[in-house]
Amino acid sequence: MKKSIPFFKYNAVYEENRAAYSKALEDVLERGAFILQRDLSEFEKNLAEYLGQKYAFGIANATDGLMMALRLAGLKAGDEVILPSHTFVATAAAVHFVGGVPIPVECGEDHLIDADEAKKSVTSKTKVIMPVQLNGRTCNMDKVGVFAKEYGLKIVEDSAQGLGSKFKGRLAGTFGVAGSFSFYPAKILNCFGDGGAIVVDQDDDAESLRQMRDHGRNTKGDIVSWGLNSRLDNLQAAILNIKLKTFDEAISYRRKLAALYQKTLEDLKQIKLPPAPDADPNHFDTYQNYEIEASRRNELQAFLREEGIGSLIQWGGKPLHQLSALGLSAKLPRTDELFKKCLMLPMNTLITEEDVISICQKIREFYKA
Ligand SMILES: *Cc1c(COP(=O)(O)O)cnc(C)c1O
Repeated sequence: MKKSIPFFKYNAVYEENRAAYSKALEDVLERGAFILQRDLSEFEKNLAEYLGQKYAFGIANATDGLMMALRLAGLKAGDEVILPSHTFVATAAAVHFVGGVPIPVECGEDHLIDADEAKKSVTSKTKVIMPVQLNGRTCNMDKVGVFAKEYGLKIVEDSAQGLGSKFKGRLAGTFGVAGSFSFYPAKILNCFGDGGAIVVDQDDDAESLRQMRDHGRNTKGDIVSWGLNSRLDNLQAAILNIKLKTFDEAISYRRKLAALYQKTLEDLKQIKLPPAPDADPNHFDTYQNYEIEASRRNELQAFLREEGIGSLIQWGGKPLHQLSALGLSAKLPRTDELFKKCLMLPMNTLITEEDVISICQKIREFYKA
């Protein structure tokens, strides 16, 4: 019988540690502790500590976090925001809903924003650059920093996929105005539904965020500003508290799988692998995703599917500037080329090393290597 390796096993997210999750959920339910309760404040404290930041706020999702960060950055109606075209629509949607104009730009060899190419897109209206810490890799933030300084821009990181990854030892989400993280079930730190966090180091920013995510209320419960309802459910926080304890082990495991993919596939000329775990001492990658470039990509994907192996083309196969319904058109030939070749192979803590070896064998078989 053929072994089936889905791209992501959603039903295994609970099974991975069923007894502990059930106990935590029951405990919260029995206490009736649904909103802004102990489990949430504990998670916020633990996450802030993990990131070496003073404050973390659990919010409804990372898209809300990006909107809040853009507000903190002072984005005004009509301001332009430079972001990579190779990102989730949420990055651009956050800009749109704060009244800004998203300007998609090219990505480089590592699939992350190309700060040199981005210079071509700067205008007098540009106010913010949004690097996306994609696939569990932090951009070259030296380059982004120089770029931002040269044009007087604020940096708002989309670190939804970046938790735990580093550039020159500094964690994603700690470079810009605020860091936003997603705990969507397929994300590297995940909960049982939607969830996110926003982190900052400054006291006044923290107070703004505290109000923004909870109807504009301050700690006394008085309404002192316009706010949203964007609170992380206490139930989800209880689950995240358990998962955060073993998060570094989860990262190590992903890096081990990435090294195995590297070792087993690196001689194939028909594919280009993401940077290996030890390829560059400036980068510490977590492999939120394992995105390769493959010749005859669609045929490879169909072949793997026949063999019971799931794979995914990120964002449904379209970068931002190809989403014609949103009118973000731009001429980005390199990103166009990348989207003919990019493919994500299974990469998570629910698959085994044997799974990775079987996947690699099938890929070799496809290319007759
Ligand atoms: C998942 C993701 C988001 C959105 O996160 P949500 O928590 O689903 O709102 C934004 N940007 C990127 C790059 C993502 O991968």
